[in-house]
Amino acid sequence: MNILVLGPQGSGKGTQAKKIKATYGVPHIATGDMLREMRELDTPLGRELKAVLDSGELVNDALMIDLIRDRLSRGDTLPGFVLDGFPRTMAQAEALDELLRELGRDLDVVFEFQVPDRQDLIARMLKRAAEEGRADDTPDAIRRRLEIYDRETAPLVEYYRTTRGNVVGIHADRSVEDVFHEIRQSLESVEARA
Ligand code: AMP
Repeated sequence: MNILVLGPQGSGKGTQAKKIKATYGVPHIATGDMLREMRELDTPLGRELKAVLDSGELVNDALMIDLIRDRLSRGDTLPGFVLDGFPRTMAQAEALDELLRELGRDLDVVFEFQVPDRQDLIARMLKRAAEEGRADDTPDAIRRRLEIYDRETAPLVEYYRTTRGNVVGIHADRSVEDVFHEIRQSLESVEARA
């Protein structure tokens, strides 16, 4: 099953993606995690990534598209995957479509993580920053990421609604277990249709 999770930072999509991985045995492809790993390298790319990640801006599309092309071409994704953090721009979404076409695959479901209350999101991100010691989660970077989400990424929900009609809204402002229950129910009906 090929799953995409879309939603602002702090909406809990990473946590749910990990649970999907544990339950369904598909790899969790989290571009933020991949970039944070690459940031630690003492190379020009590592240093460039550090600056971009700390500011809350987006990494350029070309690099992201290469990264995903590489990752989705690996055999472990054949039974499926849960894609988390990509695409974030329309150019990335179009590149993903092209890549999936080449690979003869498609997204079975797009989960849209909805958290109506912005303050709630900011509080969750600050809590995570403290718990996980994530240096890129400063209040300024958090604000900037939400702005970028609204401008660049939120329109992708409409894009998938129009091109695929497979968007499922998730009430993400509830407990981890309640949210996962909703996801499982939805995946069961996707499986039943397949
Ligand atoms: P995340 O852990 O998904 O919130 O990602 C952390 C940071 O990595 C983001 O704020 C971006 O700077 C960068 N990033 C992750 N995925 C992408 C992407 N698909 N396109 C551009 N930048 C990304």
